[in-house]
Amino acid sequence: MTIYDDEIFKMACDQFLVIADYLSIDKNDRERLIYPKRAIAVTLPVHMDDGSTKTFQGYRVQHHLTLGPTKGGTRFAPNLSMGETAALAMWMSWKCALANLPYGGAKGGVACDPSKLSRNELEAVSHRYMQEMISFVGPHTDVMGPDMGTNEQVMAWFMDTYSVYHGYAVNEIVTGKPVAIGGTEGRRESTGRGVVYLVERAMDILKMDPEKCTAIVQGFGNVGSVAALSLAYKSGVKVIGISDAYAAIYNPKGIDVQAAEQHVLKKGNLRAFSQGEHVDPNEFLTLPCDILVPAAVDRVITSKNAGQLKCRILAEAANGPTTPEADLLLEKRWDELFVIPDILCNAGGVIVSYFEWVQGLQAFLWSETEVTDKLFRILEHSFAQVIRRAKSHKIAHRTAAMAIGVERVLRAKKMRGLFP
Ligand code: GLU
Repeated sequence: MTIYDDEIFKMACDQFLVIADYLSIDKNDRERLIYPKRAIAVTLPVHMDDGSTKTFQGYRVQHHLTLGPTKGGTRFAPNLSMGETAALAMWMSWKCALANLPYGGAKGGVACDPSKLSRNELEAVSHRYMQEMISFVGPHTDVMGPDMGTNEQVMAWFMDTYSVYHGYAVNEIVTGKPVAIGGTEGRRESTGRGVVYLVERAMDILKMDPEKCTAIVQGFGNVGSVAALSLAYKSGVKVIGISDAYAAIYNPKGIDVQAAEQHVLKKGNLRAFSQGEHVDPNEFLTLPCDILVPAAVDRVITSKNAGQLKCRILAEAANGPTTPEADLLLEKRWDELFVIPDILCNAGGVIVSYFEWVQGLQAFLWSETEVTDKLFRILEHSFAQVIRRAKSHKIAHRTAAMAIGVERVLRAKKMRGLFP
């Protein structure tokens, strides 16, 4: 029994063990690779608007320090736990290693529902969280970024708290900041753009004509909305399904994604969006389409629906959308279902975060074209490596992607010794 025990951490461990067996990793090395180097839990008392004081639980998990500072997002979500944070930190490690970024993985966050907090309350939670983390993070120790439930504004508050404490602007302490305070051009769009770049590469390989393809995108946050917009207006794919936590909308004639974006900007969610039929969110993922993009929460593709997916390309924009049981079913369907695994598919976000960190350390700014070009170059390289490995070893894309990441971390650990 450890502080990490919960279902999602178990899922991350199970996925790792498949790779450990495939790579024949010695049993002495397995626990070292699984368990986080450090984990911090903090209690955050915050004055609420109604005069009460509420305490929130905050976490930060730093998975390994072997290759450089740790890097990862900060999630504000109601049921966030230490186990979930640790699982996400472990995935960040494999993701960063696959992209060859000089980072270990991290993740953190606060158990809260940001949609139920006023702006003042959200600001207070953000300041308090970073204040409690000051001793554990740093531009060369652990660099935070955005994740579910956080945005550029929250990153700005984090940067402000850290900077006020140090007495000067330390913008390289977080990534995903507004451009006005040292963020990078193209960070906000980077994850969604990366997803679509890889979908286009998959369509090339499968000789699919984008103009004749349809897509369903689950999730309309920063990742899902940008992915849906790029699919529709850049790749020329017909987006026939979009969803958020409030509604799942299907329209076989195609959805005006820009209108949906405007609607969400005005109303906050898709509940009253009328351009299509509102369908059961559980059935949404199994509707026929060419490209399915789960861009919301973890564990939405399970042993119950994996056999019924009707897409040709599964682009995992969310972290951990597919359970290991579902993976076994998807592997059997390898010739009809092309999986772009999460640690490859959504790596665009952390890759551009890395660019933001580098620009911050050097006090040097790149143009958006430079950022996007460099992003696509790294994604292309990772994609090619995964496809090559999967083909030559006759293994699933996820196995290939994770194996490349895990191998790199293990190799570095072996070279350095036991300390990191
Ligand atoms: N939250 C994002 C992820 O899961 C990005 C984290 C970051 O930019 O540090 O990959």
